[in-house]
Amino acid sequence: ETEEQWRPFNKTRVYMSDLESALHYSLRVELASHSVISGEALIALRGYISVLDKYFPGRPPVKNALKSVNDWLQKQEGTSINYSNFRDALDTMSTDSYLPKTVRWVACQGSKQHYRGYPCAVWMLFHTLTVQALETGSKDPQEVLQTMRRYVSSFFGCRPCAVHFENMAQESMDNVNSLRVAVLWLWSRHNRVNARLAGELSEDPHFPKVQWPPPDLCPACHSLKPSGEHTWVQDEVLAFLRNYYSAQHFLHDFLS
Ligand code: FAD
Repeated sequence: ETEEQWRPFNKTRVYMSDLESALHYSLRVELASHSVISGEALIALRGYISVLDKYFPGRPPVKNALKSVNDWLQKQEGTSINYSNFRDALDTMSTDSYLPKTVRWVACQGSKQHYRGYPCAVWMLFHTLTVQALETGSKDPQEVLQTMRRYVSSFFGCRPCAVHFENMAQESMDNVNSLRVAVLWLWSRHNRVNARLAGELSEDPHFPKVQWPPPDLCPACHSLKPSGEHTWVQDEVLAFLRNYYSAQHFLHDFLS
């Protein structure tokens, strides 16, 4: 087995390389297993590309590529599309419009090949999109959440994950009534998943599942009730997420 070389990284930061790798994997690998896309899946894909076009805080050429794929998709009037045509639209590149064909995990590297990688970067992408919708003054608190819900339901390769996520969505996603609550909803559901998976075989021993952000990342996020029970300081968590997942704070090392 050839292990790729380990890339030292800063554990307190988000890397654009992880987000672009997630886009590449999602659009060129995960979607590719659907040779014809129609019905619910087509609605899911249209929504996903539209949200990426609006909110992915990428480098200019990557944003341009997302815009041109979205324009192409809007123009398709039939009830189905062939993945191969979508792929051609995606791969229409120029010097100022491209999506790198690279998977290069940085903060999402696993200590072994089968750990982390894509699912880790999907979470980071989703958090980034909810924060970006808030920062850019979107008017619809449901837009990003419902779009990721449909993407996961139609396409996410980990099917048990999709079932778990849909269960959480059914329980409370519809009640989200502001963009701030949307950011916190995703944060708290992700922590629920972390709690469920802590200690499981799928856990990378070098990246144990914790309730996040842990006190060393955000001391102000944690507090104790008079009873001594742990409690989150939600305003601090929101402020932390808005900084952690903000485009200005991303690191651009290791990009192609
Ligand atoms: P991840 O949980 O992938 O987190 C990635 C990064 O996000 C962390 O390194 C940290 O920087 C940050 N982060 C962590 N927690 C939070 C938080 N609460 N809010 C904001 N940022 C945070 N695996 C299963 O085995 N069963 C499942 O049911 C399952 N469901 C999933 C559902 C979805 C929608 C997704 C995207 C993944 C799911 N997975 C599931 C995969 C699993 O959640 C992890 O992605 C995977 O185990 C890799 O874990 P990780 O250590 O890289 O951290």
